[in-house]
Amino acid sequence: SVFEYAPAPESRSVVDIAPSYGLFIDGEFVEAADGKVFKTVSPSTEEVLSEVAQAGEADVDRAVQAARKAFEKWSALPGAERAKYLFRIARIIQERSRELAVLETLDNGKPIKETRDADLPLVAAHFFYYAGWADKLDHAGFGANPRPLGVAGQVIPWNFPLLMLAWKIAPALATGNTVVLKPAETTPLSALFFADVCRQAGLPKGVVNILPGYGDTGAALVAHPDVNKVAFTGSTAVGKQIARTVAGTRKKLTLELGGKGANIVFDDAPIDQAVEGIVNGIFFNQGQVCCAGSRLLVQESIQDELLDSLKRRLSTLRLGDPLDKNTDIGAINSEEQLARITSLVEKGEAEGGERWSPACELPESGYWFAPTLFTNVTQAHTIARDEIFGPVLSVLTFRTPDEAVAKANNSQYGLSAGIWTEKGSRILAVASKLRAGVIWSNTFNKFDPTSPFGGYKESGFGREGGRHGLEAYLDV
Ligand code: NAD
Repeated sequence: SVFEYAPAPESRSVVDIAPSYGLFIDGEFVEAADGKVFKTVSPSTEEVLSEVAQAGEADVDRAVQAARKAFEKWSALPGAERAKYLFRIARIIQERSRELAVLETLDNGKPIKETRDADLPLVAAHFFYYAGWADKLDHAGFGANPRPLGVAGQVIPWNFPLLMLAWKIAPALATGNTVVLKPAETTPLSALFFADVCRQAGLPKGVVNILPGYGDTGAALVAHPDVNKVAFTGSTAVGKQIARTVAGTRKKLTLELGGKGANIVFDDAPIDQAVEGIVNGIFFNQGQVCCAGSRLLVQESIQDELLDSLKRRLSTLRLGDPLDKNTDIGAINSEEQLARITSLVEKGEAEGGERWSPACELPESGYWFAPTLFTNVTQAHTIARDEIFGPVLSVLTFRTPDEAVAKANNSQYGLSAGIWTEKGSRILAVASKLRAGVIWSNTFNKFDPTSPFGGYKESGFGREGGRHGLEAYLDV
């Protein structure tokens, strides 16, 4: 039987989830060549949501060939024509955003408040934004006649499944490339729903292909000789492996990897506002954010006042059912991720960190971790160095702006940072010394399609978003 995206006859939930989904190749939902399937579960209940076809090497080849064939016509379309499809996709996403938000929350475990108010509006915004570029590429300063690269092989993580898809697919299509995308194994559903959106928008067959699967599917895609461009977001370890695969080929590569963002709070910062920013910085999406503000650097003189205020605020956070619109803290995405967080937190305690969490009851089933704060942390501690990718904040102190900069930069990563101060001159002075791809001031975790995003050092290379995001998909 051929899998088809079709809502189950009886609604079992707020959203109709198909009992099974196929791979999306050449405009059709199909079975894997070897018939393999895997299950995707709800992290908040551990219930099986769907069975999903698992792409193997033969499917990767088929999808890449479909994308290659589609490339001839797609790249020859006038930019304004490609834009029409992207605008249509953006509007359908808006129309179906409630369904998509619920689906994303069920598959990922993040609060509906976030999928509804952050993920989905940003997804639509990215398609609108890059739709606007499609007919302006000749005038964007890339030089005369910029050309698409061909087939883009894209591998994305589970923390912002649909948003990472939008970051990857929107600029690729706007510039005339075609796409084979592999979603993460724990969150394939919104990408498959997106495939249905592409069909609804009348996107020509083969322009977008979606291949759910595990790491080996991603590895086969990255290694396929007919892929011209590789875009990856995920762990630094896998990013390095992909860089080795791509080395010696002519494939263009961008890597969006881990982070250990410093959130620097000076003594003149508005405390209440800073507390909100710290909470948003590390507890948004349960801290499963590459640019999370996971290291709090607080000026010594305000440490006590800030921590008291932060603890009071953390005690008001509501952890629980991600579909409840009042929930602040949802589930951790997978059992594996929960185990990783738990082991790093235990290490934090073993190395002498002082652990604190607000009183909160964890549901019996599902993967949960209480918001956690560590004091008595030094720069040598593992929890101050390694990316935890969970709701865990390490607090360090500093005395002078130079010490804050030195501590913030003392990391193998360089993705994000935050600066909290009333002084504009200090914002500029400190920001110019930080080795981080994105720096927020008096706010945190704000995203916008017009801004390039990407890292220094082991956080990767290349930029996504904004005009810079187009460069990764063009030859000039
Ligand atoms: P991961 O890097 O293993 O997975 C990311 C994506 O890459 C998934 O789609 C996965 O199937 C795929 N993949 C895995 N191995 C591959 C390979 N050899 N070749 C090609 N694709 C491959 O990340 P993870 O295991 O889900 O998470 C591990 C850690 O990575 C987290 O704890 C966190 O520190 C970090 N992470 C970072 C981000 C980010 O946005 N920068 C996102 C997710 C995870």
